[in-house]
Amino acid sequence: MTYFYDEDYTFTRLSFPHMLSPTNTPPGTGSIQAEVYFSEKYKPLTGTPDDLVEPVIRDLRRCGLIREEDKVLFKKAVKLRYANVIFDLDRAAALKKVHAYLDDLGIAYCGRYGDWGYMWTDESFISGEKAADGALVAHSQAAR
Ligand SMILES: Cc1cc2nc3c(=O)[nH]c(=O)nc-3n(C[C@H](O)[C@H](O)[C@H](O)COP(=O)(O)OP(=O)(O)OC[C@H]3O[C@@H](n4cnc5c(N)ncnc54)[C@H](O)[C@@H]3O)c2cc1C
Repeated sequence: MTYFYDEDYTFTRLSFPHMLSPTNTPPGTGSIQAEVYFSEKYKPLTGTPDDLVEPVIRDLRRCGLIREEDKVLFKKAVKLRYANVIFDLDRAAALKKVHAYLDDLGIAYCGRYGDWGYMWTDESFISGEKAADGALVAHSQAAR
């Protein structure tokens, strides 16, 4: 997996599913997943996800990840409306307020949207376990 922070590249993150298992793609081929980020507030998506396919392929050629002689056999664009949390300047103060309110009400929160963070799958899992443990402790204390 690799990140592209350059504004002049369409995509921000690339991953290569064929490297995770040889059965992810037919023999002699590879695959590239490109993530193009947008947000209604900061960078709205104009057009359709399909409009991004050719610019992404152009940029993959431009940075050398697809060679001139490579043939693209399959292309597909999917829009995920809710994806990564954006760390804007309002985040820290807003998160403190929302979490304090949920704590007051005794509502447990977890995961990417509960913790409102940049989380990997394993971190989300651990966050869920911690929230469940906290709920069990609170329940057993209330039962005493
Ligand atoms: C583009 C992208 C790429 C990523 N790549 C990787 C990666 O390569 N490796 C990695 O480890 N992690 C990756 N992550 C991070 C990982 O996917 C997330 O951190 C993880 O899935 C978060 O798990 P979660 O359970 O907190 O939230 P989610 O997986 O988002 O699950 C929340 C679930 O709650 C459901 N839900 C929401 N509201 C309600 C409701 N009111 N009632 C009932 N259900 C509801 C949603 O439908 C969803 O199924 C990526 C994330 C994104 C956005």
